Amino acid sequence: METSWSKFLLFGLSACPGCGSYWRQEGLLCATCEAILSVKMAAHVEKVEGLTVRSLFQWEPGESDILSHLILALKGPHRARAWRHWALQFARHHEGHLPSGAWQVLSAPSSKKTKGRDHADSWGEGLADLHGLRFEGKLFGRPGGSHRFLNRDRRMKEHGLVKLTESPVNRHRAWIMADDILTTGATAQAVYRALQRPKHFEIWCLARRTHISCAASGSMLRLGELKGFQI
Ligand SMILES: [Zn+2]
Repeated sequence: METSWSKFLLFGLSACPGCGSYWRQEGLLCATCEAILSVKMAAHVEKVEGLTVRSLFQWEPGESDILSHLILALKGPHRARAWRHWALQFARHHEGHLPSGAWQVLSAPSSKKTKGRDHADSWGEGLADLHGLRFEGKLFGRPGGSHRFLNRDRRMKEHGLVKLTESPVNRHRAWIMADDILTTGATAQAVYRALQRPKHFEIWCLARRTHISCAASGSMLRLGELKGFQI
């Protein structure tokens, strides 16, 4: 039987994903691991598939165990406060470099299996709050499952997305798509097209994954070393 005490043990006493210490802070890491990771925090700005991407981290799995373990831990349940903590770090590092104006924030479409709020929503809501911007939540989802009834909108279907809300999409609006991890930029491109290619469009993410590999943890890296090749 799941009691509030067992919940506390599961989520309240979870260890720092970087070192195993129980003295972790709001962002899930302990103070020492967060200090170590702070050298990797920066106001990264780049173009991916022609779109502007701002991130707090450049993430190459295997390069930093603390960052890889943090990202995996942030995918767990009950992480809204932790995502807000990292949104604050993003805001601090990008302060003075962000565009001004009436930007609106939407969160990246969920994967098919996700129901309700997800990490991109927590991240997007945190970013919108901290910058005084309007948060629209999810405007689009992926076709299939619970969104079947929305598939009549053929225009959205062409982009691999379905419209989730009836909010009017104005091509002159300025949009920020909040996403936890940006890899290829394919989802961002689909959202950009579904929004009718607005004049201003940016992606704000926690981490930009710079290298595609199957290794997301130190154990995978060690496996590679044992086999005598670099991952
Ligand atoms: Zn730690």
